[in-house]
Amino acid sequence: MSTSATVQTSSLEGALKHFFGHEQFRFDQKPIIEQVLKNRDVSVIMPTGGGKSLCYQLPALLRPGITIVISPLIALMQDQVTALQDNGIGATFLNSTLSFEQVTARQKDILSGEIKLLYVAPERLFTSSFTDFLNKVSQTVGISTFAIDEAHCVSEWGHDFRPEYRQLFQLKQCYPQIPIIALTATATARVRNDIAQQLRLTDPEIYVSSFNRQNLYYEVIQKGKKAYAQLKAKIQEHQGKNKGAGIIYCLSRKHVNEIASKLQQDGFLALPYHAGLSSEIRESNQNRFIRDDVQLIVATIAFGMGINKPDVRFVIHYDLPRNLESYYQEAGRAGRDGEAAKCTILFGWGDVHTVKYLIGQKTDPNEQRIAQQQLNQIIQYTESPICRRKIQLGYFGEHFEAPCNNCDNCLNPSPIEDWTIEAQKFLSCVYRCEQRFGMNHIIDVLRGSRRKRILELQHDQLSTYGIGQERTADEWRMLCRALIHQDYLEETTDGYSVLKLNNNSNKVLKKLISVEIPIAQRIVKPIGSEKRDASAELTEIENALMSQLRSLRKQLADEQSVPPYIVFSDASLRQMAQDRPQTPETFSGISGVGNRKLIQYGETFTQVIRQFCAENGLETTPSEQTFPTTDATKPPLTSKSEITSTHLTTYELYQQGMSLADVALRRNIRLSTVNGHIAKLIEAGYEVDLNKLVAVERQQVIQAAILKVGIASLRNIREETGETYDYQEIALVRANWEAKHQ
Ligand code: ADP
Ligand code: ZN
Repeated sequence: MSTSATVQTSSLEGALKHFFGHEQFRFDQKPIIEQVLKNRDVSVIMPTGGGKSLCYQLPALLRPGITIVISPLIALMQDQVTALQDNGIGATFLNSTLSFEQVTARQKDILSGEIKLLYVAPERLFTSSFTDFLNKVSQTVGISTFAIDEAHCVSEWGHDFRPEYRQLFQLKQCYPQIPIIALTATATARVRNDIAQQLRLTDPEIYVSSFNRQNLYYEVIQKGKKAYAQLKAKIQEHQGKNKGAGIIYCLSRKHVNEIASKLQQDGFLALPYHAGLSSEIRESNQNRFIRDDVQLIVATIAFGMGINKPDVRFVIHYDLPRNLESYYQEAGRAGRDGEAAKCTILFGWGDVHTVKYLIGQKTDPNEQRIAQQQLNQIIQYTESPICRRKIQLGYFGEHFEAPCNNCDNCLNPSPIEDWTIEAQKFLSCVYRCEQRFGMNHIIDVLRGSRRKRILELQHDQLSTYGIGQERTADEWRMLCRALIHQDYLEETTDGYSVLKLNNNSNKVLKKLISVEIPIAQRIVKPIGSEKRDASAELTEIENALMSQLRSLRKQLADEQSVPPYIVFSDASLRQMAQDRPQTPETFSGISGVGNRKLIQYGETFTQVIRQFCAENGLETTPSEQTFPTTDATKPPLTSKSEITSTHLTTYELYQQGMSLADVALRRNIRLSTVNGHIAKLIEAGYEVDLNKLVAVERQQVIQAAILKVGIASLRNIREETGETYDYQEIALVRANWEAKHQ
């Protein structure tokens, strides 16, 4: 199947719609693709979720030859390849999870010209057997481009240096004529320069997109005494009616376990994820999250790298993030699909003390200093009354003009009040205490504390003792931090946090200037009273349809053992719920509906929509036009090369005589997944005794149904057999039928 040859596309936009179903290019996608098509070397810097993959995937389809994609994340390869195959595009990967036989089979497919995109791990690239193979590919089908994903891995200045990436300069040496496209989400200039140098790019075009993730809403709420109750309320608020998926980050494994089990007890579908769990459990929990079997994953920062779930609707940091950069990346795992998503930090001073304690444990003074500085930055971020986006982007050296209108500070700006008198009291107390104490001590003096230490130091004798009773300790803290932010006061950073006066303090004390401070939201209003629901823009009726479409998507995904977002994105479903398309023409107008998806899913989805409209007294369109069908509606037959280690693990246990249910229990995966594995194995020609799994009479009924309605849709087959037959047995019989009739 050579996809490029069969399609006439008048423009790049046409090709975008045809292959990927998208209406428009994002960011610099179009100029980047044009450069790649002109054989230029290109370096692409785009934030996570920006749509980097498309920059090499679309050109790969428009040119003869194969595009080699070098990607370090083995877990992601499978994902990307599945997504491409679901769009009817010839793609495959080679990495260490495959057996020798699988590799050989895939190499054969590649040399026969069926494949447009080949994903390879960097460590494989320069093995002698692979270089031989690559030469063969270059001489037969031809190589159109090398795409280097996560290109920051070549740089020691990046956060994720990988020595095997250093070898990549050889690509230019061996294939000087073949263009390279390097892609990364890492922003710093140093890393950018390193990429061009290390890869020996020839006069590259460099495209840097803004790091602003407009669709993300940022907020910080103050952790109170009932932090867990606050978390629960936040989850409910963010999940909205559609029960969107979310990640909850905690600092320690212990905390992860504790919160996950509390949430489970409270009826949330939540699973834990951290490095202390066995890799089987981690993989299974991750898969169940990706496939929408559960909505919540409670995790340490071990979770996230290499996870490409585009429809994460919120990320909550239940504990303090380590620093601003990691916060940007972790929060950035929300809303990769460009739909609205929320990022919340639950900020507590208790956590700050824990982190400070941990910093104090570090032995290297340099490390200690950096950690302290990073902590201060994140505290400033959480405490600041100015636009959160402005602070984040400023950290990456990008200027942003506030307001963004999509963060708590912009939508609910803190009221500003004149606190000059309080500031004078506070600063003179610092002065009376001889600039030798920290914030809490000063507040104790102001509020007239009878603490032993105050009395010992005779600070109850000071003229400022007890002059601040009218304000709470929290209010004094808020003032003190505002004074530091606004440069009316200094705090030493040597680990003792002693308050010192500066020139500006004197101006305040001499009444030369007044002090205005933003009044923190928690003091003027209750937590979490604002915010719109993620699904608020849909009307009630649209939401009802949306939830039917979601169940249909989940069912179709389960039938194929793929994550729901592979079938359609949230954005596509939302548009369907709003526009209610019922004909091939209107359905193909939905963003995300390309040629292949129109054929594969058009009929099923429009049927549900039409029925919904009929039941709810909405306008229906008669189903006169038929949906296009081609051979492509037939699910691609699994070849041996599509069998991966997870299928083989299932097969091994099955061969040991375990029932499918036992295999599911042992592997901690769903029975339907095990069933899906077995169906794939049958299709690929592995020996499985079907009679032990499905009674012969039932097989006959299912086969009769297949003869009548074809094999394309499990749903159609089941409609024919009746509801006493389930998808799992139908899938097994269909697989067997396919294996026999090929
Ligand atoms: P990145 O690699 O930059 O993190 P991806 O390539 O994974 O991002 O793309 C993120 C999401 O955006 C995917 O779900 C993809 O389908 C979608 N996407 C990419 N380009 C477009 C576009 N032009 N229009 C709509 N959606 C797009
Ligand atoms: Zn803002």
